[in-house]
Amino acid sequence: MKFKEHLIGGIVSGILTSIGMYLYTKDIELSIISILIVIIMALYPDMDIASKSKRYVSILSSIFLIFLIYNNNIYSYAGYATLIFILLPNLFKHRGLTHTIKFGVFISYILYYMINGYYTINVIYVMIPAIIGYITHLILDKHIKL
Ligand SMILES: [Zn+2]
Repeated sequence: MKFKEHLIGGIVSGILTSIGMYLYTKDIELSIISILIVIIMALYPDMDIASKSKRYVSILSSIFLIFLIYNNNIYSYAGYATLIFILLPNLFKHRGLTHTIKFGVFISYILYYMINGYYTINVIYVMIPAIIGYITHLILDKHIKL
């Protein structure tokens, strides 16, 4: 699947997830965060290949990292988590480990550590939208592996 389809898939499931999040929590901030998480994670698996997804997710994560440096927070676990988030997929072949649900769960947990470096948030409110976004990508690729 191409970047555009993954982006559209991420936006659609992001909107649905954020509606669900709002109905469940009545928290508009959490519902905005959840749509962003879904979209980023719907693009993330293609970080294992030179792709538009890789470019955009890397740029966003790098901005986040600069933000951490600016706030003297770089040596925190959030800084390390961000480095892992950006660099780890480079170690694997395309549609290898990065296109599995177990890696999606792992990297969603890393994303939780990134976000939680700034914004105190329940792990569930990161993991659920992140895994939904990840699975959206795998479904569109027709490549669903545990
Ligand atoms: Zn893919």
